[in-house]
Amino acid sequence: MPTMRAAQVASPKGPFEIVEREIPEPGPESVRVRVQACGVCHSDTLVKEGLWPGLKYPRVPGHEVIGVVDAVGAGVLQWKPGQRVGVGWHGNNCGYCDSCRRGEFFACQVALQVTGFSFDGGYADFMVAPAIALASVPEELSAVEAAPLMCAGVTTFNALRNSGARPPDVVAVLGIGGLGHLGVQYAARMGFKTVAIARGQDKEAFARKLGAAHYIDSQSKNVSEELRKLGGARVVLATATSGEAMSSVQGGLSANGVLLVVGAAESLQVSPLVLITGSRSVKGWYSGTSIDSQDTLAFSVLSGVRSMNEVFPLEKAAEGYERMMSGKARFRVVLTTGQ
Ligand SMILES: [Zn+2]
Ligand SMILES: [Zn+2]
Repeated sequence: MPTMRAAQVASPKGPFEIVEREIPEPGPESVRVRVQACGVCHSDTLVKEGLWPGLKYPRVPGHEVIGVVDAVGAGVLQWKPGQRVGVGWHGNNCGYCDSCRRGEFFACQVALQVTGFSFDGGYADFMVAPAIALASVPEELSAVEAAPLMCAGVTTFNALRNSGARPPDVVAVLGIGGLGHLGVQYAARMGFKTVAIARGQDKEAFARKLGAAHYIDSQSKNVSEELRKLGGARVVLATATSGEAMSSVQGGLSANGVLLVVGAAESLQVSPLVLITGSRSVKGWYSGTSIDSQDTLAFSVLSGVRSMNEVFPLEKAAEGYERMMSGKARFRVVLTTGQ
C-alpha cells in the first residue's frame, strides 16, 4: 500500500505527530487532493485542544488547503485529475434541511461538515474532500499564496462584500494580523474609504502600504472619536480577538453602521443606547462556501491582494503551529509538502 505523511493530533491537547498513513481512496462524491500547501489557522486550536463538539481522534487539521486533484470517486462530474483546487472551512452540508433549502448552507442542522474537523484536512501529503468543498484555483496564484485565502481571505472578503457597505463608504478594519492585513487590502480594493485600527503608531506605514487611507492608533487615540471625525464607519470589520477593543469602536459607527465580528473574542460589551440611537447593529460572519472561496481567489488575482506568509515544511507542523499561536507570525503560517 502506498503511504503518505500526515501531521495528526492523536488526542485532545496532544502534540502534533508526523505519522505514515495509507493514502486514502476517495469515496462517492469525493475527490483526492495531492496537497501542495496548507495554511495554519487559529481555528486549528479547536481541533488541537479538543474544543469542538463531536471531534473524533486521531485527526489531521488543516482547512486552508491548495493542491491538485489526484483521483475522483464515483459520481464526481465536475473535477478531473490534474486540476488545481482549494479546500476551505466549509466541507459539506446535507442539502435537504430547512437551512440548506434556504441556501443557508453554513447553518445546516443535519450534516454540517468542517474540513479538518469532521474529516481529515490538509496537514498531509494527500486528503480526501467532498467534491462540493472544492474551489478552482487560478494559475496566477502559487499554492502558498492561495492557501491562506481559503479561510482568512474568504472570511474577510465575503464579510465585506456582504456587509451592506457601498463604495466609497467608510469601512474600518480593527486589527492588522492574519485576518486584518487581508481585510485592509480587500476593503481598499473594493473602493471603501478604508481605515486601519491597531495598537501603536509603528504600524501606520504598513497599514497605509496595504491600502488604508487612514490609520488610528488605538493606544493613543479615542477610536470612536476618530471614526466620528471621518463621518462614522458604515462597517467596522472586527478581526482582533480582544472584546475590549471591539467594544471601544461602537461609538464610531455611522447611522445604520454594523460592527461585523469575525475575530473570536471571548465576550463583547454593547451599549443598547448606541444601538438604538443610530439603528446600529452587531453581526457575526462565518467564512463562506467553496464558490465564495473561488470568488475570493479570483478577486485577489484581479486586484493584487496577497497574503504575507511564513512558510514551514509539513514535517515542522508543530513549529509552524507554535509560531501561529505566538501571535508573532507576519502574517499567516503556511505548511508546504514539497509536491
Ligand atoms: Zn480558519
Ligand atoms: Zn442541511
